[in-house]
Amino acid sequence: MIEGPRFLVIANSGMPNEVAVVNVIATLPGATDPERVYVLGGHYDSRNSNGADGDADAPGANDDGSGTAAVLEVCRLLCDREFAATLVFACYDGEEQGLLGSQIHAEALQAAEVQVDGMVTNDIVGNSLGMDGVRRDGYVRVFSYAPVGNDSLGRSLARAASWAARRVDGFDVKLVFRGDRYGRGGDHRSFFDAGFPSVRFSEPREDYSRQHQDVTERDGRPYGDLPEFMDFDYLARVASLDAELFAELATAPRPPARVRVGGAQQAYDTEVSFDQIEGAVAYEVVWRDTTSPDWEAARRFAADELRFGGGRVTTASVTLQGVCIDDVVVGVRTVAADGSRSRVTAAPEPDAMLYRRR
Ligand SMILES: [Zn+2]
Repeated sequence: MIEGPRFLVIANSGMPNEVAVVNVIATLPGATDPERVYVLGGHYDSRNSNGADGDADAPGANDDGSGTAAVLEVCRLLCDREFAATLVFACYDGEEQGLLGSQIHAEALQAAEVQVDGMVTNDIVGNSLGMDGVRRDGYVRVFSYAPVGNDSLGRSLARAASWAARRVDGFDVKLVFRGDRYGRGGDHRSFFDAGFPSVRFSEPREDYSRQHQDVTERDGRPYGDLPEFMDFDYLARVASLDAELFAELATAPRPPARVRVGGAQQAYDTEVSFDQIEGAVAYEVVWRDTTSPDWEAARRFAADELRFGGGRVTTASVTLQGVCIDDVVVGVRTVAADGSRSRVTAAPEPDAMLYRRR
């Protein structure tokens, strides 16, 4: 255990299936809302062609030295600043052996009833050159699970990443509405299984001659996950996105716990109600067509112009004129004094309500 002035690094370890697993985890406690936690992860274990080979080289420069480097760099960038919520930087062990390290961590957070409002794993984020010879360095893929229907807390987090990317020059995200690539997994899965919003960042086109390969040459072609095949400028852009996203989420007030909508049966306007959140100077109501991947419109309401009332939880209502609720998804995010925005809490879908009754 290494202790610094505001910083704590611990080895969070366990023995699943009698395999020793050691995560390296740094926590930057939140100043005003420390119970709310954001986790930035990558895995530091690696493998070669044989996942059980503990002797031959398994350099793992991209899978997942890239993710580990991004976590360390974002930690370095943000650790001298103060945030409302808690930031956790995690370098996981045992990902290649079945997500062992992240599973221990996510289950420990779940057992301690920690409110994890977002987890991002950076896994294979350091190469922009595809096997087709095309370089794609302008975006990162963001994978998100959805347990039911086409929306989820993870997708809300994915959209927050999409909005944060607007502040990274020449960079964007590609939202992929599935949990992961075919036949593949990652540490965000452990957090999804524990009920937390989580996403995976991965480069546009993976080079499979690097991943899970012995360092060798076949037919004049090099194999193995070596640093010379990395694009460090691209990796820096992914780390910039991580930093923008985590700084914003940890600065913003927490998202509304509940958002309700009503309307269409009376008029073609939508009434949106949401609970009051400490620290929110404004609330942004966002909406999109049901088939659109990301929020298409936003309207901001200053907190001091809203009338909050009610019982233990105080709520306010606003009306979106000319927005027909039956055709759109509506959500609300909170806004801090410096403009930082939470992820969005969306109103429950009518399909989801039907599903719950069954
Ligand atoms: Zn990996």
